[in-house]
Amino acid sequence: MRREVARTHLASRTVGFTESVIREMTRLNAVHGGINLAQGFPNFAAPAEVKEAAKRAIDADINQYAITWGSPSLRQAISRTYRELYGMDADPETMITVTCGATEAMISTLLAIVDPGDEVIVLEPFYENYGPDAAICGAAPVYVPLRQPDNTFDPAELRRAFSARTKAIILNTPNNPTGRVFTRSELDLVAELCREFDAIAVTDEIYEHIRYEGEHIPIATLPGMAERTVTISGASKTFSVTGWRVGWIVAPPRLTGGIRKVHDFVTVGAPAPLQEAVAVGLGMGAPYYGKLGGEYRVRRDLLYGALVEAGFSPRRPDGAYYILCDISRFGFGDDVAFAHWLVREVGVAGVPGSSFYSRPELGRDLIRFTFCKTEDLLREAADRLRRVAELVPVSGTGRAS
Ligand code: GLN
Repeated sequence: MRREVARTHLASRTVGFTESVIREMTRLNAVHGGINLAQGFPNFAAPAEVKEAAKRAIDADINQYAITWGSPSLRQAISRTYRELYGMDADPETMITVTCGATEAMISTLLAIVDPGDEVIVLEPFYENYGPDAAICGAAPVYVPLRQPDNTFDPAELRRAFSARTKAIILNTPNNPTGRVFTRSELDLVAELCREFDAIAVTDEIYEHIRYEGEHIPIATLPGMAERTVTISGASKTFSVTGWRVGWIVAPPRLTGGIRKVHDFVTVGAPAPLQEAVAVGLGMGAPYYGKLGGEYRVRRDLLYGALVEAGFSPRRPDGAYYILCDISRFGFGDDVAFAHWLVREVGVAGVPGSSFYSRPELGRDLIRFTFCKTEDLLREAADRLRRVAELVPVSGTGRAS
């Protein structure tokens, strides 16, 4: 029988989210020839050791599929790294899965552990991928706000979010977009609630080595958490290779089995020669991470100072490479309009705050800038940003401190 109404042919799971605003801002920036402080990818070189290792691997014809869950050399390097840095046991045979970036790690994990209708707790604001991730899995997200001025959660509010329906909590530390590095006492409470409600902590630790204050504590190292934590990280930010798409998951064997099956049928595996190169990179160890953090501190201070000078109200991040700023004093009343105006008239792209919230109005007064750029480019952005206060009258004091 002929249908009266044309079908869209799109599954309903594609309806609950939009295209990535972060990547949209990159495209808009290209149209206006602006400086891209929107999407978090470095514009500087990856370490020579890592690039040389990739070239060697291709020359040695490591050009076919790696083992689906990761080349043995990389899984061994990951296992050694977690032991040395955090005292974590990560058996390369049963607990590690190498993925196409942390992005695939997150969706493969959620597809493996979440049934439609399960509740997943998300701290808000959150990295924009987590919303679509939840939608694709049919999860019911439960948002818990990070409160101003410190972007901490209210313990009672977090407790109220947990119930028998809670399957998992997504935690991101160091945090994108707020720059928070969660403290031991905050993580202790999350861990306590996960144990009490038999929930899984899915933790995105992609910025673990980009830190200015505080200690990075993988929640998997807290008592009773190794068996209920999925730890996600990757090479993108640590080795400035966001286009390589090499990430990984450390999870207890009972979860790894399911995660590996999803990963296998979604991507088969991550790029084989690049896995070899990342294994070499992990061998550089603590001195490399220290240098990385030191260089990012200089970039953070440069952009932070420029934003204050330009009349924004930024919050100084303790980790990751983003600065979230209040823009209410510029009087636009709309973060998307402000971000579009900024790239068009001033030539600097940022990400509208609403893309980090479940309801757009919650991010209306915010914009996020990244500082994973050379000092030269950040200085040029600083020069451009000075024009903002000339172009729009500044009023009030803004919200953030
Ligand atoms: N994580 C980066 C950001 O928040 C890059 C996002 C992406 O495009 N994958 O900007």
